[in-house]
Amino acid sequence: MIEKDSLEICPSCGSDACYVTQLNKTAKNYFCFGCGFTTNDLMITGEFDFEQYEETIPELYKDIKKVDGSNRVWYPATINIEDKGTVFAKGTNKDNWKWAGVKVKEVNKEEQDKFKIPGTDKIYKYKADMKSIQEFSQDDFMDALEYIGFFKG
Ligand SMILES: [Zn+2]
Repeated sequence: MIEKDSLEICPSCGSDACYVTQLNKTAKNYFCFGCGFTTNDLMITGEFDFEQYEETIPELYKDIKKVDGSNRVWYPATINIEDKGTVFAKGTNKDNWKWAGVKVKEVNKEEQDKFKIPGTDKIYKYKADMKSIQEFSQDDFMDALEYIGFFKG
């Protein structure tokens, strides 16, 4: 899933673990495993409609966004892998937040009714196991990914 040769120096934090992919013909997408932040070449201060975009994201994410030397605005990533878990930024403001990892567990037979996929007969196989929630420091995004098993098969 992640090819080593697509890892570049992160324009935001300077780590060498920024996963760069082509967004369209002219723009790239950046997802940094070092800092856990993400952006793309369209999200430029003064050009992009941030007001509309920010209507859809948590307050915390707006508070901790960063701007790099090319005026790209970086937001913390939210990782959601159906059969593994979720990693997200958790906290109240830029002075008080951490990465959090939540694993999933399989939905058991008795509760399958509660986990029907709307409009179908199918059932969600996994659900968030809130007991598994674990917090990681701001520098340890990668550890949070590892915790949910992101890098495994
Ligand atoms: Zn970075």
